[in-house]
Amino acid sequence: MSVNLRGNWNYPTTIWAGPGRIAELALACAKTGIKRPLIVTDEGLAGAPMIKNALAALKDAALFSAVRGNPALSHVEAGLRTYVKGAHDGVVAFGGGSALDVGKVVAFMSGQTRPLWDFEDVGDWWTRADTAGIAPIVAVPTTAGTGSEVGRAGVILNEETHQKKIIFHPQMLPRIVISDAELTVGLPPAVTAATGIDAFVHCFEAFCAPGFHPLADGIALEGLRLIHRFLPRAYADGKDIEARAQMLAAASMGATAFQKGLGGVHAIAHPVGSWFNTHHGLTNAVILPYVMVFNRNAIADKTDVIARVLDLPARGFDGFLEAVLQLRRELGIPHSLAGIGVSAEKATIIGREAAIDPSAGGNPVPVEASHLEHIFRAAVDGRLGAVVSAT
Ligand SMILES: [Zn+2]
Repeated sequence: MSVNLRGNWNYPTTIWAGPGRIAELALACAKTGIKRPLIVTDEGLAGAPMIKNALAALKDAALFSAVRGNPALSHVEAGLRTYVKGAHDGVVAFGGGSALDVGKVVAFMSGQTRPLWDFEDVGDWWTRADTAGIAPIVAVPTTAGTGSEVGRAGVILNEETHQKKIIFHPQMLPRIVISDAELTVGLPPAVTAATGIDAFVHCFEAFCAPGFHPLADGIALEGLRLIHRFLPRAYADGKDIEARAQMLAAASMGATAFQKGLGGVHAIAHPVGSWFNTHHGLTNAVILPYVMVFNRNAIADKTDVIARVLDLPARGFDGFLEAVLQLRRELGIPHSLAGIGVSAEKATIIGREAAIDPSAGGNPVPVEASHLEHIFRAAVDGRLGAVVSAT
């Protein structure tokens, strides 16, 4: 019997899940009141059949595809110029995390008068926004990782300061998400692995973040189970639709769960990505075990729960750590940051910027710049045994 992979879900937003459901893109735009959509996508997808089909299906649509990894203010500004010139009334954000983030931020900024950085995720800055000026968004993810399709924020690089800033507003949550696994079958194994582990880290850091949020905890645990089970399958056979569909759902679950908080892995990965232009998911994948060992004493109980949910042969922190290292090996993830072109020369700056990254506040033990620099240096050299656990 084949598995049912189709469903309409209404949390955290409306999600139309199922292989082939991209055929309902025009309906999604009609339902959200978008008549002249701007399709925002990655540079690499611009000529792909799925984008050509979307353009053909949407009357009066135009394309903006000047989006690259680690998107910056200049990408948003270019997108806004296209949006205004075409008199668009909504955005179809179509692609990987970068395209989704830029698409969402373009829709958000389309009716604002203040500059972008005024809406950084600090305190209640989001209330500065003119909500009538936020255009509706339909999101179509083509990778299973960031979960940006169900997020209320976009990460944009400030090229002057080399800092990644989170732009937040509740209405940046896409109105409708089309979660179609067939759009992800062409992802190469390395991208499948890196984006999939990003989702794994979202679930893991959310589950271990302090604070009372049983809803997020439940979603995070099931997300971890799905990724542990289906990511190796999607990596080994990109055309495995069931594995692709489960991974797409798990990615949305990760981003739903991390409303609770993230932690040290993301705190370090953000400045590393800004300075070294490394892939976000891959950076997280490398750093994960180093932060785990640092947090060991604070997460012993939680990692034991995860080990039981994953039905691992060995339980407790050590059982889960071994499973993470095994998963990384299976997916061809390097063990050191040096292996992805990162050097220790910026260690002091990385430590300092990681400490003020909003993700740092979700780490299970309070972290200072010196701790994060220590973890980063160990990760650069691949010395997991050198990480001193916080007491
Ligand atoms: Zn992430």
